[in-house]
Amino acid sequence: MTNTEIIDILELTAKLMELHDVDAFKTRSFQAAAFNLDKISEDLTKMSFPELLKLPGVGKSVAGKVLQIIETGRLQDLDDLLAQTPEGVLEMFRIKGIGAKKIRVIWRDFGIDTIRDLRLACESGEIAKIKGFGEKTQQAILESLAFLENQSGKLRMDKAEALSNMLLDVFEREFSRVEVAGQIRRKSEEVDTVQYIVSTSDPVAAFEFLNGLSYLEQNEIDSSPFIWRGQASGYDVQVEIITTPSDRFESQLFTHSAAEKHLTTIGASGRTLLQTSRAFPAEAEEAVYERAGLPFIVPEMREGGFEFDWAQTHSPGDLVTWDALRGILHNHSTYSDGKHSLEQMATYCRDLGFSYFGIADHSQSATYAKGLEPYRVQQQHEEIDRLNAQFGGKFKILKGIESDILGDGSLDYSDDLLATFDYVVASVHSNLSMTSEKATARLINAIQNPYTTILGHPTGRLLLARAGYPIDYKAVIDACAQHGVVIEINASPWRLDLDWRWIQYAVNQGVMLSINPDAHEMPGFHDMHYGVAVARKGGLTKSMTFNALSLNEIEAHLQKRRRQ
Ligand SMILES: [Zn+2]
Ligand SMILES: [Zn+2]
Repeated sequence: MTNTEIIDILELTAKLMELHDVDAFKTRSFQAAAFNLDKISEDLTKMSFPELLKLPGVGKSVAGKVLQIIETGRLQDLDDLLAQTPEGVLEMFRIKGIGAKKIRVIWRDFGIDTIRDLRLACESGEIAKIKGFGEKTQQAILESLAFLENQSGKLRMDKAEALSNMLLDVFEREFSRVEVAGQIRRKSEEVDTVQYIVSTSDPVAAFEFLNGLSYLEQNEIDSSPFIWRGQASGYDVQVEIITTPSDRFESQLFTHSAAEKHLTTIGASGRTLLQTSRAFPAEAEEAVYERAGLPFIVPEMREGGFEFDWAQTHSPGDLVTWDALRGILHNHSTYSDGKHSLEQMATYCRDLGFSYFGIADHSQSATYAKGLEPYRVQQQHEEIDRLNAQFGGKFKILKGIESDILGDGSLDYSDDLLATFDYVVASVHSNLSMTSEKATARLINAIQNPYTTILGHPTGRLLLARAGYPIDYKAVIDACAQHGVVIEINASPWRLDLDWRWIQYAVNQGVMLSINPDAHEMPGFHDMHYGVAVARKGGLTKSMTFNALSLNEIEAHLQKRRRQ
């Protein structure tokens, strides 16, 4: 059991207590415990009762509950509450814009206990009439419902990859050749189908093997004699296993990896890629492109969009890779809401072979994340100077900050203080519900600030959980071009923001992109693999990647910027 799992149980219990109007004092004690435990880096499962009591916000009662969760994996209070809560009411907690109190009114006062009835009530305007709700809440519920509907049956790329690797291990032991195809091979940020090509001369035996695995369940109606379709237990996505004799393997892999629009592109031969691949089913992908008379495109770019235009002036070797990255920018430490110390983060970064580490803890307005007061910025800078002296010039910590973009678009410190940083990541974290005009104006205001180096996670989206605030992408990117501001590709698999579909536009305006992990702990650096994947998908080259600059180059860039 992990800390997160324990906290989730406490949080859900608190929500349901509020829903069922349990004693307010007890409810608050659960809320406070969940909030405070979220900041602890020690393993809760290894702590004794007296140790738990020493944690902030944890009283005797809650400590007992935590022990119960650790020992039994469940909590009696939660089980009791769940037993009294209809499934549909529980689902309402996924809707943005309404909390336990409003859900209680919807359910208790209006007898609505399914998502479907809630939608109907919104559509007929009944919800807006409820005291304390109004048009705005009703609209927010409808938007959130539409969003959630769209998301079910999908996984973020990190989860999809984990599922795919798990099954791949099993399949590799059974079949002479297995490859992952489809969206995972194309590095899609959201995946609804996990697809494999397996080599076999006996599809019947292959199906028997697959159906013998306890965690796979076939959907017989969707399946065909050569394609097994179904699900893996615990996952909402489709699993598709395409069986093929070995002499058609290459063609199956190729045609199941690319978008249709890519495959139907006609080359100099007068034939499409699809026709060519079918005519020469045993030929490797490179040969198929050559025969079709088209330049080779790497799998992640085979979306049927800009890739063949891109290939007129670029080759696959130009694309950014993990090895091309020289440093890691936008990271947090225990100064704000990170789990590891500045020294731990920097040393790990150096040990991974990078030549610079850019700290960017939260700024003062981010009180929920221990944002840095000016005197703590000072302390951090002193520590950085000391550590940099120890590193002896071979490796350097760059002094950065993730400055909140305030409501009016200004940054979070005085100019005097901003001038002490090597670089500034400007990001929006609060007041996320804005119209496109407002959000765009707010971002552009921050971009115009001479101290802004990088625009952080431009839309604030959380994949499969929260749509970003709407922005006028072109206006924001144009402003970055005009003011020499770099745009972040936030590499967290939750964000991947800037969206890869805008990379070419940005690059064409001369805007560099920085692949930033937004790491809050040492393993977080590895999220840059996801960032690199979507960057390549968007056709980002090494030369337009900000953190592919060497230490000397990036320092020169930052100094030049400060003189301007
Ligand atoms: Zn941020
Ligand atoms: Zn951050």
